[in-house]
Amino acid sequence: VYNMKNGNLSINSENIFPVIKKWLYSDHDIFVRELISNGCDAVTKLKKLSLMGEFDEPDEPYRIDVTTSANDKTITFTDNGIGMTEEEVEKYINQIAFSGAEAFLEQYKDKATEEQIIGHFGLGFYSAFMVADKVTIETKSYKGDEDAVYWECKDGLEYSMKKSLRTERGTTITLYLNEDSYEFANEYRIKEVIDKYCSFMPVEIYYTNADAPKENPKDATVDVDAKEVDEKTNDAENSTDNKTTDAEASADDTKDKKDGEKPEAPKPLNTTTPLWAKHPNDCTDEEYKEFYRKVFHDYKEPLFWIHLNMDYPFNLKGILYFPKINTQYDNLEGTIKLYNNQVFVADNIKEVIPEFLMLLKGCIDCPDLPLNVSRSALQNDGFVKKISDYITKKVADKLSGMYKVHREDYEKYWDDINPFIKFGCLKDLKFLDKMKDYCIYKNLEGKYITLPEYLEAGKEKYENKVFYVTDEQAQSQYINMFKSEGMDALIMTQTIDSPFITMLEQKNENVHFYRIDAELSDNFVGEELSEETAKEYKDKLTATFEKALDMKNLNVKVESLKDENTSSILTQPEETRRMQEMMKMYGMAGM
Ligand code: ADP
Ligand code: MG
Repeated sequence: VYNMKNGNLSINSENIFPVIKKWLYSDHDIFVRELISNGCDAVTKLKKLSLMGEFDEPDEPYRIDVTTSANDKTITFTDNGIGMTEEEVEKYINQIAFSGAEAFLEQYKDKATEEQIIGHFGLGFYSAFMVADKVTIETKSYKGDEDAVYWECKDGLEYSMKKSLRTERGTTITLYLNEDSYEFANEYRIKEVIDKYCSFMPVEIYYTNADAPKENPKDATVDVDAKEVDEKTNDAENSTDNKTTDAEASADDTKDKKDGEKPEAPKPLNTTTPLWAKHPNDCTDEEYKEFYRKVFHDYKEPLFWIHLNMDYPFNLKGILYFPKINTQYDNLEGTIKLYNNQVFVADNIKEVIPEFLMLLKGCIDCPDLPLNVSRSALQNDGFVKKISDYITKKVADKLSGMYKVHREDYEKYWDDINPFIKFGCLKDLKFLDKMKDYCIYKNLEGKYITLPEYLEAGKEKYENKVFYVTDEQAQSQYINMFKSEGMDALIMTQTIDSPFITMLEQKNENVHFYRIDAELSDNFVGEELSEETAKEYKDKLTATFEKALDMKNLNVKVESLKDENTSSILTQPEETRRMQEMMKMYGMAGM
């Protein structure tokens, strides 16, 4: 005999759910994250209680089970965590949900849709109604003398509650999917979503396909329509064991079983201790590389990485990888995954991670981030700015440290990492400050030198002038002349070098950059011509050029070249050329 209890969640809730649905429309798979993270929270709470001696650590391991049935169009999430008493369901599900949702509405009802909420954190349990018409909870608290509770709610409007016969500690949430969301009962789809959000959650997550035939025929009392069972699905146990969802792996499993071998114990879908959570001293290079392959599906080895590990003044852990990039073929776009206590939040949140670091690949876990606020609030949050600055500083420290201690490595990586560093210097003054002395340039001998080193070496011949090469082949004539005069130039052939040069000039008032063909340095001028010869050449050349260019009154200056192998040479003043390049860039050619 159960005494039923019915109630309205709130008079406002009919307004709330359309809003929630609308807000979260773009990623309504997020309910998976919310429900599984609630299960993790429930386990964490229980672990805390046992640490405090208020609960005896159970024999069976903590776990979360996700089960789908495409036939029934249901998903269940089960945890063996702390559970809830009737009073707690009242408090945390019925009331808090109401007030939480109301606060949510209050905060966001007038806001435009572009102002996306980042984590959708705090929405939690009720996100289930984005995909389900009906949701049930069956839960039993760790407190032995409390009755289990059954709770049911349709459309997030009215709930009913009664006692349940459940005997195991923990909570089971069942979602009866709505018409638009049947996809989530599909094994491959749900595994994909779990992989996206829950790869590193701190409690083991197992998956079962409830439609699959049972391993032992005697157990196969469930009526299953064989046609509906996906071929790739093995039995319930085996289907939990992979992250490799490709058909081949599954086929192998089937073969093993036919050979009469015992199926392996099911493996969880997630890794409960991500590499970033370990102390850097305990991680091997192989582990870093393996983690990189697994998370970014990039089979090119990363160049190197930075392990961030900080407890004070804020909590931040993570690993940033410098990928090997081929600027010609790859797009320069990395991925930085942001986590909150091992729960995936989103990729590439530019408010938290400096823009230029988006070229890297990595994971950042920051439990202290206020992720339940809107993006614009995040942008103006001083704390978020501190995190962003910290990450920038760490990257600069790693790079300058490598320059100082492993210059050879640094030079080896330079071709790959220099676009990133230059971009960072252009985007972030603090980064520029830290990195400007560690930018190196290849010179005409193929050696890497810094700008101060170049200036020092050329002090006498070309003080404060920096000559650079943008195309080694096209400018080879000049390069040879430079070399024969014992003069040096820097190779700067990348697209980013042009804005980078402009910035360097702005920062170092006395330094000026000239492309190697910009002017004829005195060093190249040979013996002075006799007045007669000079005039003869001048007249001839003036006539030739005036005709060729269809211009009058050209001012021609004749000088002899020291280099005997060069008959003549063209120069173009730096300023004129830069102006032309700029016009070309803005599509004003010919003006
Ligand atoms: P939040 O997780 O941010 O507190 P939720 O809406 O996700 O908000 O959950 C509301 C509350 O319901 C939780 O704080 C918790 O007390 C309770 N709860 C939800 N799911 C579970 C569960 N699986 N086990 C125990 N308690 C739960
Ligand atoms: Mg929650």
